[in-house]
Amino acid sequence: MAHIIDGQQVAQRIRAQVAQKAADFKAQYGFAPGLGVVMAGDNPASQMYVRMKQRACAEAGIASFTTLVDANTPHDEVEQAVKAYNDDERVHGILVQLPLPSHIDEEKVLAQVSLDKDVDGFHPINIGALGMKGREPTFTPATPTGCMLLIQESGLTISGANAVVIGRSNIVGLPMALMLLKANATVTVCHSRTRDLPSFVKQADLVVAAIGQPEFVKGAWLKPGCVVIDVGTNQVADASDKRGYRYVGDVEYASANEVAGYITKVPGGVGPMTIAMLLQNTMKAAQRMMGETV
Ligand code: NAP
Repeated sequence: MAHIIDGQQVAQRIRAQVAQKAADFKAQYGFAPGLGVVMAGDNPASQMYVRMKQRACAEAGIASFTTLVDANTPHDEVEQAVKAYNDDERVHGILVQLPLPSHIDEEKVLAQVSLDKDVDGFHPINIGALGMKGREPTFTPATPTGCMLLIQESGLTISGANAVVIGRSNIVGLPMALMLLKANATVTVCHSRTRDLPSFVKQADLVVAAIGQPEFVKGAWLKPGCVVIDVGTNQVADASDKRGYRYVGDVEYASANEVAGYITKVPGGVGPMTIAMLLQNTMKAAQRMMGETV
């Protein structure tokens, strides 16, 4: 049986550290670090994520501000909401809740976020710096940053390890691959056009699955003793659960658990880390804004 990397526990530790820093910050400067959230439309999952982020901020002593606009709001008004937070001294970090309604140009909106407040790390300049040798981004995206911490928990030496990242989205797979490359892993990125995906997975000391396909990666594909980080969060029908559904990852946990050395669970693995990393980045943004070296 694999060791379970407990994301809930690691996230709780980080949230406690952020809460302490936020309290020290407030004592020193007289105001709290602040996060501004822009959300367009009424996607129920997005609403739930925004509520979770607001609650997490409150618990950590971070002030949160939210601009909610309806799904038909013109593009310019959404950009305007971002710009207003750029100019708002109470706000140190800005988060644009994705996805945005289809008529809004996501790329243009994200490019408006001030680099100093880009706590989601999605600004092309931050992503570019992540990919370039000798450059360091100011902020890195929350989910892959959380995955890096969970990998550290396993004790795996990332430098020189064979890492396979399955998925290449802008928010998870791509930045994950870039972060592992910066940490000197030998990185293979697999995606929907990859031929014979199991043969790549078989070589991997580390597998990060971020595809959005329930239980896609099978235990038999894995190299014995490898580290498995499962980013997937897939809702599947389950009549035995009182909600009628449950969440599973992109990895078939039961079979992977038999082969891997370390594994994350869904839920309770990567998910809690994402919010913890957002809080950490917001804290860092506030400290940077006050001229502190972080
Ligand atoms: P996404 O934007 O839909 O990207 C999915 C990626 O997986 C794409 O690169 C796609 O390849 C690849 N892919 C899809 N089917 C595949 C297959 N059969 N074989 C190989 N590759 C395949 O998804 P995402 O936003 O990255 O999210 C991925 C998963 O992580 C989802 O379950 C999401 O809910 C979850 N997630 C969790 C958190 C968290 O905090 N726990 C945060 C973000 C996302 P192509 O590029 O070729 O299309």
